Amino acid sequence: MIDVMNRLEGNIALVTGGSRGIGAAVALRLAEEGADVALTYENSAERAAGIVEHIKALGRRALAIQADCAVPEALTAAVEETAGTFGRIDVLVNNAAVFLVGALEDLGTAEIDRTLAVNIRAPFVASQAAARHLGQGGRIISIGSNVAERAVFPGLALYSMSKTALIGMTKGLARELGPRGITVNLVHPGPTNTDANPADGPNAAAIAGFTALGRYAEGAEIAAAVAHLASADADYITGAAINVDGGFAA
Ligand code: NDP
Repeated sequence: MIDVMNRLEGNIALVTGGSRGIGAAVALRLAEEGADVALTYENSAERAAGIVEHIKALGRRALAIQADCAVPEALTAAVEETAGTFGRIDVLVNNAAVFLVGALEDLGTAEIDRTLAVNIRAPFVASQAAARHLGQGGRIISIGSNVAERAVFPGLALYSMSKTALIGMTKGLARELGPRGITVNLVHPGPTNTDANPADGPNAAAIAGFTALGRYAEGAEIAAAVAHLASADADYITGAAINVDGGFAA
């Protein structure tokens, strides 16, 4: 029997981009369900420290690691630091991403390279590094996007492309790691109230209008799906993409 309040008791999780937004909500939810959590950030040292304090107040261990996901060596070092500090890794959440949007003619190689490095190469590199530590029951969960398969506004091509790549990665790794009892899944959030996409932003009403529920999500609603996939309740889910999008794709 799984204790539903402590489904992740004894687990070690690493969340990339856990200082703010969805990543912070995921880090907190995994800790609430019993996991010890390491989180990475790029710039927000204070906010990362705040999430660490919050997790420790829950009685769990926590660690914040400054690591730019665009730098493979830094990301791999963060995975190793997590395993070294906590003894192993059970759950990797690939969350960090950049949202660089604009007209086709306005996106230069700097924006293209940054998007490919953070949104695609980093999840792949982190998965590679974490897979060396994951055992039976291990989890790789990536955060995709509602616009991976439905680019509703002009200007989303680069970002959408980067999120669609995660579908291929998820399916490929599910096949590759399945024989080791490791599951690999993707969560596609809909519009979610974060710094990157505030629910009171200038285009928010139009964006919310694309959902069936007519509203933004809060990070905690995305985190609930991630926690489910991380738990033993989801032992038989792999290679899947779950929309937590308020019906955006309906
Ligand atoms: P935010 O911009 O609010 O937060 C981004 C987080 O990622 C921060 O913790 C940030 O760290 C970290 N981060 C960004 N770049 C790097 C980097 N190069 N290296 C390390 N950490 C980095 O984003 P959201 O919470 O909105 O988005 C989280 C995920 O959800 C992303 O994958 C996004 O694509 C996806 N998503 C979001 C939606 C939304 O409406 N919000 C909708 C669909 C998908 P720091 O604080 O140090 O900058």
